[in-house]
Amino acid sequence: MNKQTATRNLDEIITKVEGARLRISEHHIVKIIGISKYSTTQDIETLYNAGQRAFGENKVQDLKDKMIELEELPIEWHFVGTLQKNKINNLIDLNPTLVHSLDSLDLALELNKKLEAKNKKLSALLQINSAYEDSKSGVLPEAAIEVYKQILESCPNINLKGIMSIGAHTEDEKLIKESFKTTKKIYDELIPFGAKYCSMGMSSDFELAIACGSNMIRVGSTLFKD
Ligand SMILES: *Cc1c(COP(=O)(O)O)cnc(C)c1O
Repeated sequence: MNKQTATRNLDEIITKVEGARLRISEHHIVKIIGISKYSTTQDIETLYNAGQRAFGENKVQDLKDKMIELEELPIEWHFVGTLQKNKINNLIDLNPTLVHSLDSLDLALELNKKLEAKNKKLSALLQINSAYEDSKSGVLPEAAIEVYKQILESCPNINLKGIMSIGAHTEDEKLIKESFKTTKKIYDELIPFGAKYCSMGMSSDFELAIACGSNMIRVGSTLFKD
C-alpha cells in the first residue's frame, strides 16, 4: 500500500465516521482501531504516517511480532481475538492498551490470577454475543450485566472499561441493527458501573454501528485495501 492509498482509505473512513457520529451529536466521539491482522508491518507504518495511531491484532504471537518490528512508533496496540488460556501470560507481558475480547467469567478469573501474580493490571472489554451465533465468542446478552458485575467484584487487576460485540453475520441490515441495539442497551445499563467503551462496527457495518451508539470501531479490510 502506498502513501496515497493509505491517506485515501483513512480519509474515506474518517469522513463516514464524521457523518455518522454528527448525526448523533457533535459530542459523540468515535475512536477508530485499525485491525491489522491481515496486513504487513510496512502497511501499518504507512497508515501510521497517514495519521492512524491505534491498531489491533487477533493473535497474541502476531501482536508480539508486530509490536517488536514497529517498536520505534508510539502505536496504541489493541487485542481483539479469542484469548486462549495458555497465551494469557504472553499477552500480559505485551501490555496492550485494551483487550476487547474477554469472553467469559472463567477467562476473566484466570486472567486476573495471572495479572495478580505479575503485579500488573490490564484494561479490557467484556465481549457479548449479541447476534446469538454459535460461531461467535462472548457471553449471552441475558447474562452480560451479571457477568460484568462479577468481573468488577472479583477481578481487581482487570480494569473493565466496557463491552465489545461483533454484528450479526448476515446481509439483513435489520438483524445487524438488532444485534447492535442489544449491545447498546447493555452498554447503557453499564455506564453507571464505569463502562466507557462500546466497541462495535467493522468494515461492512461501522456506520450502522455508530448510528446505534458505538464509540469505538474496528476496521480492517477497508482501511488496508489496495
Ligand atoms: C478482523 C476483525 C475485525 C475487522 O474486520 P474487517 O471486516 O476486516 O473490518 C474487527 N473485529 C474483530 C474482532 C476482528 O477479528
